[in-house]
Amino acid sequence: MKTPEDESRPQPEELLEKDSKIRFQCRPGLPCFTECCRDVNIFLTPYDILRMKNRLGIPSHEFLEKYTKTLLPPGGGIPVIQLVMKEDDRRCPFVNDEGCTIYEDRPWSCRMYPLDWMGDQGGYYFLVGEDKCKGRGEPNEWPLLEWLKTQEVGPFEEMDLRFQMVTRYPRLAEAGVDDQRVQHMFRMACYDLDTFRRFVFETKFLEVFEVEKEVVEQAKKDDVALLELAFRWIRFGLVCGDVLPIREEVAESKRKEMGVASGDQGEKEG
Ligand code: SF4
Ligand code: SF4
Repeated sequence: MKTPEDESRPQPEELLEKDSKIRFQCRPGLPCFTECCRDVNIFLTPYDILRMKNRLGIPSHEFLEKYTKTLLPPGGGIPVIQLVMKEDDRRCPFVNDEGCTIYEDRPWSCRMYPLDWMGDQGGYYFLVGEDKCKGRGEPNEWPLLEWLKTQEVGPFEEMDLRFQMVTRYPRLAEAGVDDQRVQHMFRMACYDLDTFRRFVFETKFLEVFEVEKEVVEQAKKDDVALLELAFRWIRFGLVCGDVLPIREEVAESKRKEMGVASGDQGEKEG
């Protein structure tokens, strides 16, 4: 979750290290209980969406349509997905008076709150003070790593690092992400996983791309494996052509079509 507070990055002395201890406990009965689920900007990662749509038992396109909006940074760029708050009370669609109704599959940033992660720069920091988050005044003290374990953030961090390998690749900026076709391809693969599944298994995708048999089998039954394939496809299409090879027979027929002899062409094409 990138809240408005996220705009102001912490000073180095405010950063928590892995061996830091934090005082915090969130519980019903606190005056702020569920207040942090109101009027907040929550940007969802591909893995958040995967977990939430599966939790709700609906396909990704329905999840995106019902609960989110797609934002494009000014001047073009990678589409980002924002959770839409309810119109009447500005609360998250998944909160009720008892708390989060999708708690086990809540987004990564909700797990981290009131902390945020500095990503590959390392370190964590508090997004808000005790005035906003009364849980910070509770007596329970935790070693930071132990608290993070209770929030089960591991798979979210891991998947985000893989996602960042796509979004932060230096050549991405040159790849024309302001092109609407590319943005559509990025949104479908990263966020609309069930549509990407149909694209992989119901089109000529597997005839064109050489995907390892075990990856194909795994992607049929496991959304995480499918998402990893989606990241590879995006890197192929947007960034570099060597992460998802085109089948040799397809490449050869393309070369023939273009009147290029085998071996004349060093780079593979999308
Ligand atoms: S503001 Fe802090 S203590 Fe209050 S509900 Fe949110 S996370 Fe829990
Ligand atoms: S997903 Fe759950 S924890 Fe996150 S804002 Fe909504 S209700 Fe709160």
